[in-house]
Amino acid sequence: MQPKTHNSNSPDDRGYFGDYGGRFVPDTLMAPLLQLEQAYAELSAQPEFWREFESMLTNFVGRETPLQYASRLTEKLGGAKIYLKREDLAHTGAHKINNAIGQILLARHMGKTRIIAETGAGQHGVATATAAAQFGMKCVVYMGAEDMARQEMNVFRMRLLGADVVAVNAGSRTLKDAVSEAMRDWVGNIADTHYLLGSALGPHPYPRMVRDFQSVIGREAREQILAQEGKLPDTVIACVGGGSNAIGIFSGFVNDKDVALIGVEAGGTAIAAGEHAARFAGGKPGIFQGMKTYILQDNDGQASPTHSVSAGLDYTGVGPEHAWLHDLKRATYTNVNDDEAVAAFHLLARTEGIIPALESSHAIAYTIKFAPAMKGKTIIVNLSGRGDKDIGIIQKYDGARK
Ligand SMILES: *Cc1c(COP(=O)(O)O)cnc(C)c1O
Repeated sequence: MQPKTHNSNSPDDRGYFGDYGGRFVPDTLMAPLLQLEQAYAELSAQPEFWREFESMLTNFVGRETPLQYASRLTEKLGGAKIYLKREDLAHTGAHKINNAIGQILLARHMGKTRIIAETGAGQHGVATATAAAQFGMKCVVYMGAEDMARQEMNVFRMRLLGADVVAVNAGSRTLKDAVSEAMRDWVGNIADTHYLLGSALGPHPYPRMVRDFQSVIGREAREQILAQEGKLPDTVIACVGGGSNAIGIFSGFVNDKDVALIGVEAGGTAIAAGEHAARFAGGKPGIFQGMKTYILQDNDGQASPTHSVSAGLDYTGVGPEHAWLHDLKRATYTNVNDDEAVAAFHLLARTEGIIPALESSHAIAYTIKFAPAMKGKTIIVNLSGRGDKDIGIIQKYDGARK
């Protein structure tokens, strides 16, 4: 099913959402990006492509995910009625698999047999390795050596799924170095390789394409809330790392002007250089990893270091469509700090029997502040993933505060 609701929000021919996005890459990357753009334009016009995608989402990913009324959380906060969009119940435990499946299908149609990806904490690497195994494709995941040491279990998981995990020893040995390595590989292996980027960011056409694959979240949520409440929600809340789960759910409501859209970024330990990842609170427009968007940068325009207790939100730049929605004031962006996110993690576990990902805990944390004053209103919170991957972090975090 082609995501029709997006027509008014498509980027222009050069890949700009308003002032943001574009394609700021070296000449060597233009050929693969143009090839990808053209292939996606052709395939996304074919209903069979979307039917194939939907079928994989149903049978492999386990969609649709429920929209669950969180009765005990609602009662505890005493304000708005709260619904949770349960992306944590998707295969592999988060929304990232939606995009991985979409891009693998596209790669297969393009005749590619080898998939490469970058990963930070390993979640996108796991989703990619999972999708590659399902389609019998070769998979190489680039990961900073520093991140590999911190995320041993995800490295093991990717290897179990048949992926080749390559340690990147350049630079700070983290995510941005892994992105550079993946791009280098792509340029050298265009004939058989697809670069499966993990969020709604980077150079055109990725932000739009990833948004389209994640828009299933918003499409389902809209139908589900209409079925359960008989009306649209007043507010939709989602955490924003690169921005894919948020833009996925927002896209279902962006044309409904009365539905408020709220993105929650990582406030870290303080809104001060190096201590957070709230691009809209501490950043400004600039160019980063192929796109123009809000980025955290110093006075010389150099990318600043970032921090969050949640690895998936710990990133320098935000997807360009969010930058556009921000400037249009169609969506608002706020942030919560590490302590608030961890408190929300505990509260949801005890109140609803759901252990949320630390990323998703940021959306819950803002809901805890926002919902009490909203009696009579309805909120949907996107629960982007489950928190099994985070229990070790929580154990240490709580231990350190005792
Ligand atoms: C990766 C991740 C995020 C952040 O990525 P977005 O592209 O902003 O969605 C959020 N939640 C979970 C569970 C993740 O794994």
